[in-house]
Amino acid sequence: MEIKKVIPSGYCKGVVNAIKMAKQTREDYPNEKIYVLGMLVHNSYVSEELSSLGIVTLDDSNCSKDELLDQINEGIVIFTAHGISDAIKAKASAKGLKYVDASCVDVLKTQNIIKDYLKLGYDVIYFGKKRHPEAEAVISISEKIHLVTDEKDLRDLKLSNNKIFLTNQTTMSYLELKDLIELAKKLFPGIVVEKEICNATSSRQLAISKLEDCDLLYVVGDVKSNNTNKLVDIGKKHGIKKVLLIQNYQDIKDEDLIDVEKIYVSAGASTPPLLIDEVISYLKSKALNNLSD
Ligand code: SF4
Repeated sequence: MEIKKVIPSGYCKGVVNAIKMAKQTREDYPNEKIYVLGMLVHNSYVSEELSSLGIVTLDDSNCSKDELLDQINEGIVIFTAHGISDAIKAKASAKGLKYVDASCVDVLKTQNIIKDYLKLGYDVIYFGKKRHPEAEAVISISEKIHLVTDEKDLRDLKLSNNKIFLTNQTTMSYLELKDLIELAKKLFPGIVVEKEICNATSSRQLAISKLEDCDLLYVVGDVKSNNTNKLVDIGKKHGIKKVLLIQNYQDIKDEDLIDVEKIYVSAGASTPPLLIDEVISYLKSKALNNLSD
């Protein structure tokens, strides 16, 4: 059995920066209560590590960011790497809270492009994932931003404005985006498009699309992580026989490895390096055991 790591995979600059900012906040304010509004990055191991530093993650899929913020009455609030709306920032300030904005620069870049087009009088079609914090932050900017999650949403969209701009959440699949743009150009002739998949996401997807003779691809990451799920989609679309999302090495089952010769391991941009290393070590130990059997 041959085991290889897909390069690049794992942490991106936005995730590294957000974790660094959260840890720095604890160092700067050792005695203050610190909260993260949602998961800092979509990996529960990272949330647990922050919890060990006394940084509380407030995350509830039934609550909006606004409702989560209502639960904080003192201390410092950290906004996550996925971005935050100006309204939530203003509300935190009005409540007298200090805040730290760990939004990724690539997320902010997309938000700024959208704001520029809005100022020019455009309606914005935003391809993203419903209820994902990055998409939520974007659609809260203006009612002229229309979230589409698939081609059906795009076909159902009725826009009277002839100035239309299309862009996307940074962690979408480049294949899905390509198809969506093709359709959008047919439905809305004259549409202006800017692809905003971030470099970290596209380079990880591209690396998977180039894999050859892969019998099994493990993608290590959290089920909540959009970029992790998209790596799984890309692997499947490129015809890899078996593509499995696992959170850690304990999710590997012996039956996954039956009749498998070449295994690749990739990981989402929010997956801690330790988890990837553990998966690779575990698989290598399995391969050695097989040899000695
Ligand atoms: S995946 Fe891309 S947009 Fe998201 S935090 Fe990483 S670099 Fe930023």
